[in-house]
Parts: sequence; C-alpha cells; structure tokens
Amino acid sequence: MALATQEPRDDAAPVRDFNVERDRFVAFAFSAAEILFELDSDRRITFSTGATAALLGRSADAFIGLAFEELIAPTDRRLVGELLHSARSRDRLDDMVVLFVGAEKDPVRLVLTGYFLGEMGGRYFLSLRRGHRRITILEADLPRDAESGLLKQESYSAVVAERLKSVGENGESCKFTILDLSENQDLCQRMDQDVSREWLTALGACVRAGSLNGDSAGSMGEDRYGLVHEVGLDVGALRQRIETCAREFDPDGLGITVETASVKLEKAALRETDVAKALVHTINRFCQDQGDSFTVKNLSQSFENLFEQARDNVSKFREILEKESFKPAFQPIVELHGQQPQHFEALARFHGAPEGLSPYELISFAEEVGLAPQFDIAMCRKVLEWLSAINGQGYKYVVAVNLSGRSIEVPAFAADLMDLIQEFDSVRDNLMFEITESAKVTDLAYVNDFVQRLRSAGHMVCLDDFGTGAAAFEYLRALQVDLIKIDGSYIKNAIANKSERILLKAMSGMLHELGIASVAEGIEDEVTLGFVKECGIRFGQGYLFGKPNTDIGAFDAPRPSLFVSKRPSAA
Ligand code: C2E
Ligand code: MG
Ligand code: MG
Repeated sequence: MALATQEPRDDAAPVRDFNVERDRFVAFAFSAAEILFELDSDRRITFSTGATAALLGRSADAFIGLAFEELIAPTDRRLVGELLHSARSRDRLDDMVVLFVGAEKDPVRLVLTGYFLGEMGGRYFLSLRRGHRRITILEADLPRDAESGLLKQESYSAVVAERLKSVGENGESCKFTILDLSENQDLCQRMDQDVSREWLTALGACVRAGSLNGDSAGSMGEDRYGLVHEVGLDVGALRQRIETCAREFDPDGLGITVETASVKLEKAALRETDVAKALVHTINRFCQDQGDSFTVKNLSQSFENLFEQARDNVSKFREILEKESFKPAFQPIVELHGQQPQHFEALARFHGAPEGLSPYELISFAEEVGLAPQFDIAMCRKVLEWLSAINGQGYKYVVAVNLSGRSIEVPAFAADLMDLIQEFDSVRDNLMFEITESAKVTDLAYVNDFVQRLRSAGHMVCLDDFGTGAAAFEYLRALQVDLIKIDGSYIKNAIANKSERILLKAMSGMLHELGIASVAEGIEDEVTLGFVKECGIRFGQGYLFGKPNTDIGAFDAPRPSLFVSKRPSAA
C-alpha cells in the first residue's frame, strides 16, 4: 500500500510491487475464506493455501497434484462434479455446503464457492469456508430422497418459500423450473438395480447443481422435479445434460426426453410475500394433481396458469380480508334430549358466494398460503361485534368460533387473539372456540399450551373433526379440551359398519369418563339421531336441528348454556 510507493525505485521494485499486490489479494480472499484452491482444467490442484491442516488434515503443499474430487466425501462427489461442470458455462459457483474428507473420521462441512476463468486456460479458483447465514436451511436435516439426494416433496415447498424470501431480500430475481421425466420409470426398468441407483444419483446431482446454492431442488411427485435457479441458468443446457446422462446410463442407449416449464419471479414481485405464497400453493397443487390436468404437452401452460390463478386468489383473499366481505352464519348445537340449542357455531359465509356453498375450499386455501391467522382473527372480531350488538338487545347467545390449527401454530397469533378478546371484555364470556384442522398440526405440545391459555382465560375449547382412529388417542392425550366434536363421516360409517360402531361407542364412553362432552356432527335424520343417542353422545349438530343461518332469530331461543365462561368473575 503506501510503503510500495514511498520506497526508492530499484531493479527489484516491480517484483516487490507484484508481491505486495498478490499479498493484498490473498488477504482479501482470506477475509472471506479459510482455504483457497486453484485447479487446472482437469480439476487437479495446482495451488493451495490456508487452514488446510486444521480443516482437512494435511499441509497445503500435500494437495498439489491431487484430483480435487478426492477431497470430497463420496456422497457429494458427483454433485461437486456437476457444479464444476456447470461453472464452465456460468463462470461462477454459487455458495454451496459440501462435505469434505477431513482430518477426523467424520466429514467436514464447508461452504464451497468460486470462479471458473476460461481466459486463464480454463482454471478454477475455489474458496472454502465454515458456515454462512444464507444457507442455514441446508444445515437442517430435511428429508431427502435416498438416491437422488433431492429434497422430498413434503418439505420442498417450505424450502422454496425460504429460498424466495432470501432471493427477494437480496433484491434479485429468479426462476422456478419444473422438469418432467415421464419416461424415467421405463428407463429404470431397463437398468439393473445398481446402475439405476447410480443414474438417480447423477440425475439428482445435475438438478441440484443447476439450482440456487446447489440445494434448491426437490421432488414434485413421480418423476417430476422442481428447482429454484438464477435467471441466467441455461435450462435447455440442463435438459440436454440430463438427457445425455440418461443415454449413457441406459443399457439400450435410448435415454429419455426431459420436458421443462419455467416461471420467472421478478425481484419487485419477490418482495411481496404473496408471490412466494402463490408459488408454494401451486407446487402443492401440482404435486397433488399428478394425473389428468398436467400432461407433458401442457405442462408449461398449466403450471403457469395455475400459478397466475394462485397469485390472483391470494390478492382476492387479501381483498376479502381488507373489505371484510364475509359474515357469520350460525348453526345450533343442541342437547339431544329436548333438542334446545345450547350454543351456536359461527360458520363463515363469503359475500357473493352462492347460497349454501361451503367456505371450506377458500379457508383451506387461506391455510395453505398462510393467511388463516388473519382470517381467524377477523372472523372472531366479527362474532364479538355481533355478540356486543345482540347482548345490547338483551339476548344471551353463546357462540363458538373456529380457529385453524395452522393459525395457532403461528407465534404472533396467540397474542393477537388475547388482545382482541380483552377488547371485548363485556361479551367474551359468551365466546367458545373450536380447533379445526388439528390433523395438520405439527407441534401438539405448543397447541396444547395455547388451548390451556384460552381455557384459563375462561373459554370452553372444543376439538373439531374428531375421529375414532389411532390418531384420536394421541390427540386426546396431547390436548386437554372441554368438548370433542365427532365428525359426521364417522357417525355415518358407524351406522353402516359394526366394528366402527363398537369403536364409536367405546370412544363415547371414554370421553364421558374423562369428563369431556361429546358432540355428534352431521345429524340429518331421526335414524342418525336415535343412533347417536344410543351411543351415549349427549350433544348434536346437524340439518335436523337447523342449517346454518345468518339470522339467528330463525332458531329457538337458547337454554342457559352449559358452556358459558367459567371465569371466576363471570358468575
Ligand atoms: P366444521 O367446523 O366442521 O363445520 C361443520 C360443517 O358441517 C359446516 O360446513 C356445516 O354447514 C356442515 N354441516 C352442519 N350440519 C350438517 C349436516 O347435517 N349435514 C352436512 N352434510 N353438513 C352439515 P361449512 O359451513 O361448509 O364449513 C366447512 C368447514 O369450513 C368447517 O367445518 C370449518 O372447518 C371451516 N370453517 C367454516 N367457517 C370457518 C371459520 O370462520 N374459521 C375457520 N378457521 N374455519 C371455518
Ligand atoms: Mg367447527
Ligand atoms: Mg367439524
């Protein structure tokens, strides 16, 4: 730096200047990395420096002349080969966590990044370092397909959402591409087991190497794969690479055709979280709907249409929330002897929806795209406002509001709901809750904590859509509630099937002994009513007692409810 220019000039000055420059660049490089490697075009190490002894168990000199791939743990070797191959056309290697053979028995996890410089004789300049904030999701032990190393379908959409978020935060754009390998099953049949395994590893490596950080690719159902990638990735070249690879592995040399469909996600759009929500929904729909709607021919069109539709639906649902374009309909829950309403369930009805149309689909959509918490809070507010108004007229209705299990799992939800309840202190004693979609809950202990908070605040809590299967026992053990609603489909099954009947009776008896009230759903006729009474179920809901109605005056006046709040101050 300053030294080089102050020194008197002599014959050795250019060399010294060069050395100073070199040291400066090496110092810069080390500010971002712990080890540097230079490889020739055959990927042999020609230069090595840094903390090689500490991290990789050998001095820097010992690496000269070695093939770079010898340093990589066998599981990641093919992937790194593909990354280096793709760097030849992209010039650059993304940050990527790679397992290296280290000094110890266990492999060392390091972030590999670097450049390929064609103009310098086709050399690679690679740096290795520990940890990186952008790749934390990679550290998590996400479920992967054993052969291809690709993320499994069930975790993939969550990874995509995370990736899009970080791409958006960095102010970049990206693309999402689906690869369809519909002939892959036939190809695998032609191979013996070992070759087929190797082929799938190679396929996984190709797909991953094209994706952001070498790990934004996953399975989207049978022989379909998705990847988030840079806008500049040559998808055609990736397709060809996979096709060539398939031909090489194919004992008949036929190979397969790969079809692709891409959507571009602009940086401006990525800052709106709705785009990620829409894409995640589209991926899930796409995975579910493997059959009819997506033929190879219309793959691109249908994926794009579905995505556009999802984006549109997310905005429409936001508009519903903003304009509060929904209202509660009420349906009585009666005590089966006497059939007087005990309390009412509030069921959402969207403005403009045809009479009697179930809100289920729209609410499921909201759950999937993460808008259920806002909706549940908005619906609860509507019901509390309604209770305030009707109380003012001297009526005492007790109303249960549905809360999605998915909402409860969102950390801010509990506080928002508690704040809301406190705002309506004069009527909150008439408020109950039903927990729906509990089957989709992943953290039962967390949900139970939330349920107990509601109960200790005085509210009765009911577990909705309850069944008689094995999962039912797990829920009963994990969630302490006041009521259980047995789904109408189980009641119907029990009428038709003797062993189901035995299970339902046993369940009802058990609930009674546990001091939990049971409600039978979907009672439409006298036969069902007689049957559920015989099973010992005390409460019921169904068209026989009244269909949901936005005018609560359509029903008999309620009895003083058993389910009014048990708050000490509520007496
Ligand atoms: P759910 O909470 O289990 O509600 C009971 C559903 O059964 C309601 O459908 C009701 O209209 C229907 N039902 C009642 N009696 C009978 C009967 O005798 N026969 C038949 N076939 N059906 C009957 P709905 O209103 O279409 O709601 C469907 C689902 O949508 C609800 O199931 C709940 O999961 C969800 N949902 C509705 N409103 C809300 C809400 O405000 N918030 C949340 N999170 N979910 C809601
Ligand atoms: Mg319900
Ligand atoms: Mg239900």
